[in-house]
Amino acid sequence: MAELTLKQVRKSFGALEVIKGIDLEVASGEFVVFVGPSGCGKSTLLRIIAGLEETTSGRLTIGGKDVTYAEPSERGIAMVFQSYALYPHMTVAENIGFGLSLARRPKAEIAAKVAATAETLQLTQLLERKPKALSGGQRQRVAIGRAIVRDPKVFLFDEPLSNLDASLRAQMRLEIADLHTRLKSTMIYVTHDQVEAMTMADKIVVLNGGAVEQIGSPMELYRNPATPFVAGFIGSPK
Ligand code: ADP
Ligand code: MG
Repeated sequence: MAELTLKQVRKSFGALEVIKGIDLEVASGEFVVFVGPSGCGKSTLLRIIAGLEETTSGRLTIGGKDVTYAEPSERGIAMVFQSYALYPHMTVAENIGFGLSLARRPKAEIAAKVAATAETLQLTQLLERKPKALSGGQRQRVAIGRAIVRDPKVFLFDEPLSNLDASLRAQMRLEIADLHTRLKSTMIYVTHDQVEAMTMADKIVVLNGGAVEQIGSPMELYRNPATPFVAGFIGSPK
């Protein structure tokens, strides 16, 4: 079953239409990458899925339920941003558990979930540290931990690695791919980096000017790019 569907989703800011009628189906457990140049609408589309931005028209479903007008907290999604946005005065444990504290979950439940999340992300030794005492990669793992702890149906990542240096980026790519394998959850990952798209995706959605240029597996796009834009972006020989 499709975990997420978009039907003719459109978004305008004033007179400027930035999302131009997008249709998409994401299967449960799929790793989908939205790729395209800066300004093509990747973040806006992700924010629409998260419920942080209203659609101008079109419908969205998550887990078979129409969520077009649902609040972000009702959608069963969690988002990881480019900037880690950790709370500097809180420990790693408090940062990971913050959303659960806000939701007034029992203390014992929060402690158990934070411990399990830390284990998953190899953060157990760092739980009492403050963010300033962490490396960039560790901070990004804490940011991912804040998403995991809520046990979302769908993870949304908006260029989560673009602030990291090249070697750390490569390492985090592997960690996120490994996480996807272990959690078997649906992930939507936004990047402008072709290498990330080609190496991480089950399915790539190539966006250009707010519209879908092509959807396919990395190999399909590489072998059969539908347009010169896709060929140029993916780096196909033709
Ligand atoms: P990307 O993430 O692919 O770089 P964005 O989704 O951030 O692209 O932006 C797509 C287009 O929408 C850009 O032209 C951007 O200027 C415009 N845009 C995004 N958010 C707003 C907003 N809140 N108000 C007006 N224009 C916006
Ligand atoms: Mg963006």
